[in-house]
Amino acid sequence: MSDMLGTEVPVPVPVQASTEPAEPPLVSYVLPVYDEIGAIRRFHEQLAGAVAERPEFDYEFIYVNDGSTDGSLRALHDIAKNDERVRVVDLARNFGHQIAITAGLDHADGDAVITMDTDLQDPPEVSLALLDEWLDGAEIVSARRGTRQDSKFKRATAHAYYRVLRRCADVKIPLDTGDFRLLDRRAAEELRGFRERSRFIRGMVASMGFEQSEVVFDRDERVTGNTKYPLRRMLRLAADGVTGFSTAPLKLITRIGFAGLVLSAIGILYAVGMRVFLPEVTVSGWTMLMVVLLFVGGAQMLSLGVIGGYIGRIYHEVQQRPLYIVRDVVRYDAD
Ligand code: UDP
Ligand code: MG
Repeated sequence: MSDMLGTEVPVPVPVQASTEPAEPPLVSYVLPVYDEIGAIRRFHEQLAGAVAERPEFDYEFIYVNDGSTDGSLRALHDIAKNDERVRVVDLARNFGHQIAITAGLDHADGDAVITMDTDLQDPPEVSLALLDEWLDGAEIVSARRGTRQDSKFKRATAHAYYRVLRRCADVKIPLDTGDFRLLDRRAAEELRGFRERSRFIRGMVASMGFEQSEVVFDRDERVTGNTKYPLRRMLRLAADGVTGFSTAPLKLITRIGFAGLVLSAIGILYAVGMRVFLPEVTVSGWTMLMVVLLFVGGAQMLSLGVIGGYIGRIYHEVQQRPLYIVRDVVRYDAD
């Protein structure tokens, strides 16, 4: 807070007088929306229905329209007109799920902030279970997928990925959790400080510490439409997860390089030995030559690729561009 001269004045800490009725805590929902016209109205109805069971809190619903092209924005405005707790943050284009969540977090004022998908794969009732954990003292509560209804391929790759990531990442990223979670005010503030472009929010959350707990739920099928994570985007997110939280691939290169060196040394000894002791058959050595050449060439290409991946990310970071651009923020008042 600053006065008219722009100098910092201390923000008064609200002290609750015991006689006054306490303001109910505010719970913010951060809800990324990308082409969810088939689900969004039903989602809001279910969410509003779920939170109605917990009248002891105030709520705000921050829908982030991530460049939808199917009329989801209009639907969101309709929802906002009928529910004054709704705010619509409209991004100027599609920035991707992780950034949409970030934009929503930046606009959330709640004492607790819940992030969840809007395709009804994250059931709204489960968010109440997250709130219970929060009331019990947890500062970060992640919803872990007990079962999930996605395609076999997605389930299998996700399962394997989370386990590989856990082995190589520098921080312990919880297994089978996506971006359905609750952050208390402090954790949400801290997360806002993570401004890297290649974002893997679940890794950032894991790296923050705090009192973390989890709630297990059964992840439903997407109600309509298709996943916005085709294989290409899944691979990018997976790579962001690994490169953002681990330098294991760089170490792997070193190991491959070392192994290659040892093999080369053996090969050189062999080739020289053949030349010296069996000069009449040395022509057959071309097999060896090919093997070594191909192996070294392959190892180098692989290493360059991994290094390129890190350099690409460094390049994006040093550009220091804004993470997202907001077209406008809309809220309809009751009157
Ligand atoms: N989403 C988004 N921007 C994107 C892709 C997805 O805001 O570029 C939203 C989407 O509307 C949904 C959530 O992020 O609410 C998760 O996306 P999706 O369901 O496609 O991912 P999946 O559940 O298949 O992993
Ligand atoms: Mg989904």
